[in-house]
Amino acid sequence: MNFSADIGTVKGVGAVRADGFRSLGVATVGELLRFYPRAYEDWSSILPIERCPIGENVCIKGTLLYPIKNDRVRGGMMIAKGSVTDGDSIVSVTFFNNKYITSMLKSGEEYLFYGKITLGKYAAREMLSPMFIPVKKSKEILPIYHQNAKITTRQIRSAVSTVLEDKTEIPEFLPQYILKKYSLVSLDTAIRRIHFPKDAEALQAARNRLIFDELFLLQLSLMRLKDKNSAVKTENKIKLDCTDEFFSLLPFEMTNAQKKAVKDAVSDMKSGKQMNRLLQGDVGSGKTAVAAALVFVCAKNGMQSALMAPTEVLAVQHFETFTSLFSQAGIICELLTGSSKASEKKQIKERLKNGEIDLIIGTHALIQDDVEFSRLGLVITDEQHRFGVKQRTGLCSKGQNPHVYVMSATPIPRTLALIVFGDLDVSVLDELPPGRQKTVTYAVSSKKRQSMFDYIKTYLDKGFQGYIVCPLVEESDAIAGVQNAEEYYEKAVNTVFKNYSVGLLHGKMTPKKKDEIMSDFKSGKIQLLISTVVIEVGVDVPNAVIMVIENAERFGLSQLHQLRGRVGRGKQMSTCILVTDSTGEDTVKRMNVMCSTTDGFKIADEDLRLRGPGDFFGTRQHGLPQLRIADLMTDSKILTQTQILAGEIMKSDPNFTKTEHIKIGRQVNKKISTLQTPAAANTI
Ligand code: ADP
Ligand code: MG
Repeated sequence: MNFSADIGTVKGVGAVRADGFRSLGVATVGELLRFYPRAYEDWSSILPIERCPIGENVCIKGTLLYPIKNDRVRGGMMIAKGSVTDGDSIVSVTFFNNKYITSMLKSGEEYLFYGKITLGKYAAREMLSPMFIPVKKSKEILPIYHQNAKITTRQIRSAVSTVLEDKTEIPEFLPQYILKKYSLVSLDTAIRRIHFPKDAEALQAARNRLIFDELFLLQLSLMRLKDKNSAVKTENKIKLDCTDEFFSLLPFEMTNAQKKAVKDAVSDMKSGKQMNRLLQGDVGSGKTAVAAALVFVCAKNGMQSALMAPTEVLAVQHFETFTSLFSQAGIICELLTGSSKASEKKQIKERLKNGEIDLIIGTHALIQDDVEFSRLGLVITDEQHRFGVKQRTGLCSKGQNPHVYVMSATPIPRTLALIVFGDLDVSVLDELPPGRQKTVTYAVSSKKRQSMFDYIKTYLDKGFQGYIVCPLVEESDAIAGVQNAEEYYEKAVNTVFKNYSVGLLHGKMTPKKKDEIMSDFKSGKIQLLISTVVIEVGVDVPNAVIMVIENAERFGLSQLHQLRGRVGRGKQMSTCILVTDSTGEDTVKRMNVMCSTTDGFKIADEDLRLRGPGDFFGTRQHGLPQLRIADLMTDSKILTQTQILAGEIMKSDPNFTKTEHIKIGRQVNKKISTLQTPAAANTI
């Protein structure tokens, strides 16, 4: 079997079909074998008609009672009906628009039928458009593949079966000791059985082996990458540890978690190797102060830092925090965003290049080609879930192996942290600054809106501020029953809140306008801010103590948690009101979670459980590798097994030089190249 042979060389696959395969990402024989079925038709376990569950795919064996007849009905459609019995019960079978059906199904012959049984008139059992094969042919489990307009499951099935006619053994790469310890079948068996399993048990064994491979190789590769990263030497070595000097600048004492995080990072940067570290901290845990400490230490050691924020609002906020903190310390900060004036930009870029600026804060504008540094030593990205790995590395290429610090406010469930951030070391802020009050959360229906407004007013009257978050921006986006910020704002200023100062903030405004509104809100000039999710990340206004989230059903748990994190940042107890009229099971569960906990890790776990890893991470930009067969939720046992095994091998034989590990090493290298260029082929 030549795995790298072009898919077009498979017997029966012509140019058109080969194109179809390529459109599914299958270009070679090896890729075809790794194109696992998404489901199966089980023709092997035949059920008596009487015992078939209604509405599920089943296979029955029966004899056609009468010759089938094709009738033409209105609209030119053809309908053919027949009756099938297994001796005890009868099921009617119906076929649409099939000219040949009368010659395919013969009265008195026995067939296997596969499909869903439903209940028709008078609870009579029927099967609509079932698949069928004569009983004389075989009974088996057949694969169902992801298909598209260019190629069908049947065509894929036949190509796979042609390839597997070659009985040469598919080479094994796992040593005996691993196969034995984890009771795994050989790769040859697994690949053959995943496409054409004899029975459910064989299928399970095949799946187990392939899931094991996928998770094992992934984790080994990530561990290798991490090793490689942490071995990169850099000139950006910290010689002068002046963290104590920094601590004295702060208006508060750092929490132990913050101190520990600073210590982790500083000792990385002292080592002469490049730092690659993630700071995970729940909303409000004080990540900014940690970042500031690192910037300070780098500046005192003659290195420049860059801080990249996902939104302009956030970049401006950081700029304000850092300038006021660093003003007496002689550390020069500048802000560079898409909306900075051209002349200003030019001047900042020049000073950056000359080394006059210690810290540049900005949005992705920082990655543009003409931004150059004199000596970039530290790259910090805030709220990393908004950035791709590409942007992170794009900024790094502007220095000589600068240290990399990633801050994320999305707590990742512990079981997944290693996979998502496998190439980074991790510090966790698992402690909130002292004196924080829990945010009390309620879920209410829109009928309560009026009394909710009165409640908000009591806080505004006491001098506090609040947010109301709407899912949509303007009326033209209208979806029935979903609040939009513009209309909400109009109503608020003209009616209920006409005696208060109300602001509107959304993503369609110019960056300049957004800044204005944000700074008015920060200064207290605006009491109530009506906004879309643009305030989701990072915004810090401790005097805001009440938040209303309209149409809360439209937000995921992690997003609700992020939004809610905008309040509860001061000494005053805060309130979050989730407004929803949805009574869907999912919504109710999410609201219950939100009302019962403020622990970001717990919420992340729940979110993952409710949504599944695919949706949880939203897109691939989160860095979660695409998995072919493993499911991070349901396969957590194999995940843990492989995590431990991979760790052991990395310890005892990190370069895969032992005879029994050489082949694993080759697979790992292949995997690493696919991780770095996701489009690269995944062959055997
Ligand atoms: P996040 O981790 O969500 O980015 P921030 O860095 O914005 O959190 O910090 C939230 C708020 O807590 C800020 O107002 C900040 O000044 C304050 N803060 C941070 N650390 C401490 C601390 N150790 N003690 C008191 N307040 C703190
Ligand atoms: Mg933050």
